Amino acid sequence: MAAYEPVIGLECHVQLQTRSKAFSAANASFGGSPNDYTDPYTLALPGTLPVLNTRAVEFAIRMALATGSTLRKTSRFARKHYFYPDLPKGYQISQYDEPLAEHGEVSFFSGGSLRKVRLIRIHMEEDAGKSMHVAGAHGPVSLVDLNRAGVPLIEVVSAPDLRSAEEAAEYLKALRQLVRYLGICDGNMEEGSLRCDANVSVRPVGATTLGTRTELKNINSFRNVQRAIEYEIERQIDLVERGGQVVQETRLWDADRGSSHAMRSKEEAHDYRYFPEPDLPPLALDAAWIERVHGELPELPLARRARFMEKLGLTEYDAALLTAEKDVADYYEAVVAAGADAKRAANWVGSELLRELNRDGRTLSACPIAPAALAELTRLVDQGTISGKIAKDVFGKMWATGQGAQAIVEAEGLVQVTDEAAIEAVVRKVVEANPQQVEKYRKGNEKLLGFFVGQVMRETAGKASPELVNQLLRRILSPKEGSS
Ligand code: ADP
Ligand code: MG
Repeated sequence: MAAYEPVIGLECHVQLQTRSKAFSAANASFGGSPNDYTDPYTLALPGTLPVLNTRAVEFAIRMALATGSTLRKTSRFARKHYFYPDLPKGYQISQYDEPLAEHGEVSFFSGGSLRKVRLIRIHMEEDAGKSMHVAGAHGPVSLVDLNRAGVPLIEVVSAPDLRSAEEAAEYLKALRQLVRYLGICDGNMEEGSLRCDANVSVRPVGATTLGTRTELKNINSFRNVQRAIEYEIERQIDLVERGGQVVQETRLWDADRGSSHAMRSKEEAHDYRYFPEPDLPPLALDAAWIERVHGELPELPLARRARFMEKLGLTEYDAALLTAEKDVADYYEAVVAAGADAKRAANWVGSELLRELNRDGRTLSACPIAPAALAELTRLVDQGTISGKIAKDVFGKMWATGQGAQAIVEAEGLVQVTDEAAIEAVVRKVVEANPQQVEKYRKGNEKLLGFFVGQVMRETAGKASPELVNQLLRRILSPKEGSS
């Protein structure tokens, strides 16, 4: 069998989290009862006119700048015609031959190396409503909910640079991370705030021209991006191997079945009857505005990751983990700024804190432990006031009660015992109480040291300094000490 190379390009729709819609003042929130968030413009009542949402443009500019795209000084809106019940105007306002931005790129790490995927364009448009097909009293009925109609979107179109289903999923993750960092979209794929269509073709390895592509619609999770593309790659290879030809078509992914089926032959641009939107003037961007938006961009994920490694000495793994979400990175940096050792803070935030947040399904905005409080806890360990093990218990109590570390340690008498004589007395008591284990240990079963440590810790309610306990046990259990 000949070897084939998959070629993939993604078209991603990013819902911009503005308060109002792209061209009218109707509420742009997700949810609500059907048709709550409409107004005369959304309903396409005669005589209504679009008014462009400045915030939506600003969000689109953020994305264009963050991806190094070239912003068009003057872009233009265009009508793209469809005939669907969920599109009351009969057309979608989009951008066509003069999009907002072009030639950017999205970068991400894949298997340890940096991948750059080129962007063909980023353009602005509005979302459609939703049709729902349900059972009615007299048979099936179709209902329409226009809450989503007119919500601002940007469409981010990648070049056909991706070479595997896995890489496509990684690209999508990077895109999601970026829009969340930029605060322009919540990236919630289940609610449809981030959606993607995948264009897939295959070609013999070494070929320089592209094969015929199909477009997969309706992909609403990372897992499904990967599954849908994998399925399509296999389907196309199989087809070509059997002497068939891929036809350019739109296919619908069915996540429940794990397969896709042809939906329609691919429409051509002329099918949409594009023409410049007569009700909106060309969008001219003010240079000073772009400058301001540029100045307000946050540090982007890859730059932050690199800084965490170079300036804070974190491993690649920790740096990636702690920069995956902007709020986690902000929290982590606040812990370090409050005086915690960078590496130690990374451990606490990366393991304990994220675990608790996940378990309780909370975001950092509802975190009961303030960064300064976590820094205080790490200092208590560094100073030897409490052991690492006790610190985990204290952390649990801080999480449950919101109290400070110092307060909990004092109230519960958890200060570490570092008085050697006191610990030695306990060690001797434990050794005397377990003559059989002592004999085995002295005959070479060194694993029993853990047993003794455990006994001493139990006797001291976990407060003995683990270092001292280990030292003393080794000395007292050594055959030399035994024979003296
Ligand atoms: P359209 O607007 O008709 O969907 P575009 O030229 O804008 O077409 O391309 C849409 C997407 O398809 C882009 O993401 C692009 O990278 C991808 N694409 C184009 N040709 C191919 C191909 N032969 N194989 C895979 N992806 C492709
Ligand atoms: Mg397309």
